[in-house]
Amino acid sequence: MLSIPHSLTGAFIASKLPHPALYIPLTLGIHYLQDWIPHWDFGTGLSSGKRSKSTAFVGEIFELGITVALIYYFFDSAGVDLQPHIWLGALTGIAPDLIEFPRNFLNWEPWFIKPFNKLHGLFHHSTTNIAVGLLPQVFVVGLIWFLK
Ligand SMILES: [Zn+2]
Repeated sequence: MLSIPHSLTGAFIASKLPHPALYIPLTLGIHYLQDWIPHWDFGTGLSSGKRSKSTAFVGEIFELGITVALIYYFFDSAGVDLQPHIWLGALTGIAPDLIEFPRNFLNWEPWFIKPFNKLHGLFHHSTTNIAVGLLPQVFVVGLIWFLK
């Protein structure tokens, strides 16, 4: 999924369960479940060569900017104090995607990261249909908006 639903999910969980022993494993587990749902993101088509690394990279950076703004907007408007655990939850929400960065963009995959990337790959289902791939993500973002 995009960083937006993953990060908002992590921030939401951290806002409700502010202990790292709770929100970190829960957020990571939900990341894999969210990725199991067929989705579209800026990395879709990267492995097949349908999308260039530079296009994916620019899209990811653009999206990360929007992600930070949305986390601020969502939780600040709900009166949630933006404590570090909110941001750590958001970062945890995209951690499995961040550790894929060296492999996807630098062709470098250290041995200790390989098992995590392999686990991520087992859960990851993409679709090139943007509308179908964005729909579940819009649902996640909307759900967090109402539950926050
Ligand atoms: Zn992922």
